Amino acid sequence: MSQHDDHVQHTWNLTRDTDGDRISIDLWTDGYSVRVDGGPDDGHEDDRGLQAIEQQLLPKYAAAGYRIESSYAVNDPAQLDDDGPDTEPDGKPGKCPECGSPVEYEPNHCTDLREGQAWLCTGCRWGPWVVA
Ligand SMILES: [Zn+2]
Repeated sequence: MSQHDDHVQHTWNLTRDTDGDRISIDLWTDGYSVRVDGGPDDGHEDDRGLQAIEQQLLPKYAAAGYRIESSYAVNDPAQLDDDGPDTEPDGKPGKCPECGSPVEYEPNHCTDLREGQAWLCTGCRWGPWVVA
C-alpha cells in the first residue's frame, strides 16, 4: 500500500474491519494537495491540505467505520541517509557479457577477495569491480 513517491510527504492508511476495505490518503509535499485512493471517494482530490484531512476526511471515514491503520511521513529525511550517498558511478555495463541479464549497481559487494563497489549481474551474479 505504501507509496514512496517524491511528491508525497505523509500518508494515512485506513482500514475497515467489517469488510477489509482500505483507503489511503496522501498529503503532497506542496502542503495543500490531498489525494484519496480507495473507499467511497476513490480518486478524490482536495487542495486544503492537512485541514481537509483532519477536519473532514478522517472524521468522515471514522464515522463510516474505518480506523487508521498507519500514519507516517513518506519521505522522512532521517530514513534516507542510513548508508550515505548511493549514487551510481558512470560506466554501467548495458548487460551481462556472460548471460545477457541486466546489471545492477552494488555499493557494498563482498567476496573472499575484496569488498566494495561492483556491477552485479542479476542472473549469474557476474560482477566486475567498479574502478574508481
Ligand atoms: Zn550474467
